[in-house]
Amino acid sequence: MDIEKLLRKNIRKLSGYAAKEIPCKVKLDANESPYSFPSLLEDIAEIETNRYPDPEASELKRAAARRWRVSHKNILLGNGSDEIIYYLITTFGGPVMYPTPTFSMYGIIAKALGEKTIEVSLDRDFDLSMDRMTGAIKKERPKLIFLSSPNNPTGNCFSSDRMLGLINQSKGLVVIDEAYHPFSSRKGMLPLMNDYDNVIFMRTLSKIGFAALRVGFLIAPEEVVEAVNRVRLPFNVNAISQRVATRALKNYREIEKTVRLICKERDRLYRELSRIGTVRVFPSEANFILFQVSDAPGVHKRLLGKGVLIRDMSAQIKDTLRVTVGTPEENDFFLEKLKEVL
Ligand code: PMP
Repeated sequence: MDIEKLLRKNIRKLSGYAAKEIPCKVKLDANESPYSFPSLLEDIAEIETNRYPDPEASELKRAAARRWRVSHKNILLGNGSDEIIYYLITTFGGPVMYPTPTFSMYGIIAKALGEKTIEVSLDRDFDLSMDRMTGAIKKERPKLIFLSSPNNPTGNCFSSDRMLGLINQSKGLVVIDEAYHPFSSRKGMLPLMNDYDNVIFMRTLSKIGFAALRVGFLIAPEEVVEAVNRVRLPFNVNAISQRVATRALKNYREIEKTVRLICKERDRLYRELSRIGTVRVFPSEANFILFQVSDAPGVHKRLLGKGVLIRDMSAQIKDTLRVTVGTPEENDFFLEKLKEVL
């Protein structure tokens, strides 16, 4: 049987998200936190594994609502924010617009669902190009615009006034993906929800120590949450994740301490990389740094040979690599091996 022929047309052309387990000594490729919180796992033995989890995840939603000073009715949970992207595109459909380069899942999911994608390149400073974005909004009338700020993989936040400009022009929803907001010096745009009914937010626990749980948050006007809830699978956040994530949000100070350590290390890593003559480093407000070398794919491969796994971004931006900020020891190991390789 020819399975290829059975596939929907849009799936035939689709290549999925590249996520593979690659053996290495130091893993700095997936923007995870180098710190985990075993003490928060102490009471998971109490969980009755024979029962379905709370379909509403009420406790977790309330903890999240308190953290972001919104009502629990403004929150919808996902199995990671990836799932929320899926739900948003399933609910509202396309065209789906986003600047490039950015997080690849906006495009992968839109294409998997057979929706039109509109990719608009960023300007030379990796900020939003207002001319191009405005033109595309007028021409294509996107239902959804995804803005990752700080942006993955470039590391910068987009200018607030440009994002606001798009929110004002868009007749559809503008999704501000604040996955990396904890590492940014900016206030974040969440308060905009009071003044606009077409701006919605995504946050995640994945970058601050809980990637294994798969917990993401949609923070949006009630009407949007209700609409997206129609497509949500009934038990999409499992009981263990609900329990641990609730405790994590209630112990946010512990997490913040590690976030501060990571930011300090990020700034050190930036300075150290800037000192290497053959490296061009881009400033970052996230837990990773993008940098340019000559022959990035070769450097990536040789680093892996020495036990250091980072991410080759050259398909998106020529000769760039993205390194996640690790512990001080991991960062030193990376710097040492990078210098050897270069
Ligand atoms: N948004 C951005 C910008 C990301 O970089 C990532 C993770 N790479 C996600 C969302 C997805 O995060 P998760 O599904 O783990 O919550």
